[in-house]
Amino acid sequence: MGLKDMELKAEKIKIFNQGKIETVSDLVIPIKNIKKNKQLLLKADRDWLLFPGLIDPHVHVRDFEQSHKEDFLSVSQAAAAGGYVYFIDMPNSQPPVVDLKTLSKRVKAANLSCLECGFHFGASSQDNLEAILEAAKNNKVHSVKLYLNHTTGDLLIENQKLLEKYFRNIDLISVHAEQEKIDLVIKLAKKYGTKLYLCHVRGREELEKIRPYKLKYPNRFFIEVTLHHLFLTKQADDDAFKMMKPSLGGKDDQAALWQGIKQGVVDTIGTDHAPHLIKEKKSKEPPFGVPGIETSMALMMQAYLEKNITLQQIFYLMVKNPAQIFKIGENYNYCYNPNQIKTKLRDFVIVDLSSKHTLKQRGIKSKAKWSPFEDWSLIGWPKITVAGGRLVYSDYNQNMID
Ligand SMILES: [Zn+2]
Repeated sequence: MGLKDMELKAEKIKIFNQGKIETVSDLVIPIKNIKKNKQLLLKADRDWLLFPGLIDPHVHVRDFEQSHKEDFLSVSQAAAAGGYVYFIDMPNSQPPVVDLKTLSKRVKAANLSCLECGFHFGASSQDNLEAILEAAKNNKVHSVKLYLNHTTGDLLIENQKLLEKYFRNIDLISVHAEQEKIDLVIKLAKKYGTKLYLCHVRGREELEKIRPYKLKYPNRFFIEVTLHHLFLTKQADDDAFKMMKPSLGGKDDQAALWQGIKQGVVDTIGTDHAPHLIKEKKSKEPPFGVPGIETSMALMMQAYLEKNITLQQIFYLMVKNPAQIFKIGENYNYCYNPNQIKTKLRDFVIVDLSSKHTLKQRGIKSKAKWSPFEDWSLIGWPKITVAGGRLVYSDYNQNMID
């Protein structure tokens, strides 16, 4: 059965359009990748919302020597089921992406992905600036990732001179920095005018350190928070399945992150999707990290329904800002205009705001096969995801996708 241009028809649907919700009747959108003679008809009796497809700036795809944990195919299917249309891979794979040869292997491995994706290139303790500058010419390389805490091998940068060299020469640095390392990277970014993207900012103390610079230089300092820091707090009985870096904070940290969102200080929400198998988490030396790419949309939609966040804020945090910061413009297109809809609407997700269920009931796509949110009963799960005009996920009828 070959690919055929087909139509998605919705008898009645809500559409997020420039901050507002419009209700549209008899919407027809042409999409590819539906099997011949099949049609996707959305009935009017459900509460559907058409929303821009999400962009995840922070994903550990694994693959290579850790493909048992996740690979480009499995992560992209999990992402599509989570309402994502684009994601950026982190370089701490095994082997890490710190040279051009490994980057080209990574790009090749990513051909398996059902979604478009990009890469953060790794800075090495072995001075790989030459490779970094060369890699930056590739428009799929969105930033350079620096690890100042908690990593192994050549990715951990401790040499002050080398660190200064990187900050002097690189345009946009994404950084894993905790505690006093946050002060250090802020100081260097200020000194050299480097754009600094602070990954997974954990809580009150971190936010307070960065806030003045964010307010003073809004286009040079960027703050990412994760879903697990927004929705989970540290508990006395936490086991390895709640272990990640940076660790979970307390209630005050959680409140500070939500406050940061309300005040517009937080730029993006990344999943920091970091899959490990259940047996690895149960082992004597469990690895850090939790999966998150399948649950973020439903968590945020639930937060929206509970009036903790607006759809416009979700749009900025999970679509517009990541696209702008990492220059994911050319291929991404969400522009709802009733007159142009047939040509313009190519990256979107339709979420169901009428029924409540758990990730476990939906079936987990990630090879990790677990989630810290797997038993959470949520409203707002993706029903259909279309990326680049192609149907990439449908829980309506999975057999439809070629
Ligand atoms: Zn990470």
